[in-house]
This record gives sequence, structure tokens and C-alpha cells, in this order.
Amino acid sequence: MRRSLIAGNWKMHGNRSSIRELLEGLAAGLATGINGVDIVLCPPFPYLSDVSRWLHGCEIVLGAQNSWCETDGAYTGEVSPVMLADCQVRYVIIGHSERRKLQLESNELVARKFVAAQTAGIIPILCVGETLAERNSGAAKSVVAAQLDAVLNLVDASAIERSVIAYEPVWAIGTGVSATAEQAQGMHAFIREQLLGLDAESAEVVQILYGGSVSPDNAAELFAQPDIDGGLVGGASLNAQAFIQICKSVS
Ligand code: PEP
Repeated sequence: MRRSLIAGNWKMHGNRSSIRELLEGLAAGLATGINGVDIVLCPPFPYLSDVSRWLHGCEIVLGAQNSWCETDGAYTGEVSPVMLADCQVRYVIIGHSERRKLQLESNELVARKFVAAQTAGIIPILCVGETLAERNSGAAKSVVAAQLDAVLNLVDASAIERSVIAYEPVWAIGTGVSATAEQAQGMHAFIREQLLGLDAESAEVVQILYGGSVSPDNAAELFAQPDIDGGLVGGASLNAQAFIQICKSVS
């Protein structure tokens, strides 16, 4: 039986005082955790240490939004996964579509970041997903398969077991238009099938999250699908009550 996982991606939002307030709201509902659910918060880099301190004693763990593919060196402005591990970060989002689009991150770079994060002992949350044009042209599965394959070219399938995959259709992120439960389940089952051929145990164990306009209104239906093991939540994770409700929607 897979545990569920809900991760909040705060993106580049908030400031020290609004984040403190948000955490106080979240701690009120989630401090003792929710049975069977891992809860991860991914603040912007400058607030990682504050959030780590403020989360002390809570059943919520710390994540980051990105990390580099090398552990140290002349990479001005980049952040090493080893440094993140040193700051109590346990998860890192890798290959978010905003970075693939705005920072032109290729499948190959994303795959190298995945490996570097795992080597540093951090659990990568590997984001995959198609654009609307790709879905409309019937290419959604091949796009997602290529994103996965780039990682599987560098690691054996059992490494997937120590990671989390997030299916995030690009057209659903921040738009208020979520994939339907059927669309999401269809892609999650496809992802699991891709892994099944390589390593049945890893395919069974890996948590596959859905991300894209998850809200308190649609979370329960999405999370009830057999291959959806939780969510990567952007906008709604900035509202304590909404995020708590989403976490409690896990069946
Ligand atoms: C995200 O940032 O990964 C995301 C899914 O955002 P939203 O929930 O706002 O669509």
C-alpha cells in the first residue's frame, strides 16, 4: 500500500512575515500530521532555514524548488543538492514545467539534476507533463515517456523507487482548469505501465502525484483514483485552509 504525499510549491511568492503567518495557519491543522500522508512544503530558497526552524516538531518536511546537477563548483547562482541536504531539505522539485520553459531545461539536464539530488540523499520530485498543443496533437504520452526515459537512461528503474513522480499537465498549472480525474488517472496508469516493464516492484511502490489546479473542490476525486498518490499543489498551497483541506481529502 503506497503512502500518499501532498507537496506545496510556493514558487516565488511571499515574504518572511507572510510565510511565517502561512506556517502558523498550516501548523494549526497539520502539526501532528495526517495518517498515511507525507506532507512537504517547498518555500523559496531564502526562507528554507527559517521554515526549517519554524517546522521543528511538526510532522511536515522541507522541500526545495530546484537544485543543480553538480555538487559544487563555479556555478554562480545555482544551488547544490548537497547544500540543500545540509539545510535539512528532504525533497526537491526537479524539472518543473516553469523551469523547462523559462530556463530552457532539457530532459537531459533534468535527468542529471535527478541523479545529483538522489546522490545527495534528497528525494527528487520529478515533474513531467505535456503542453496543450501536445495533448491536442495526440502526443501527450510520447512527451511524458521521453521525459521519463531521459532519467531512465541514467539510472536503473530501482532508483525510481527512491523518487516521486509528479504528472503536471502544463495546461493545468495555474490556470484553474484541472485535468479531469479520468485524464489524470489515464496518464498516471501510463507512467506506472512504463515502469512496470522495467522493474515491477519500483512501479508498484513509486508515488505518482498529480499537479495542476488542485483545489479543495477537486482534490478528493483526483486522489481517489487508483494511480494518483497525492498532489503537487501550487496556488492553493498559499492558503492555509485550502491546503489543509486538500491534505485531508486523501482517502
Ligand atoms: C505547480 O506549481 O506545480 C502547480 C501545480 O500549480 P497550481 O496548483 O497553481 O496549478
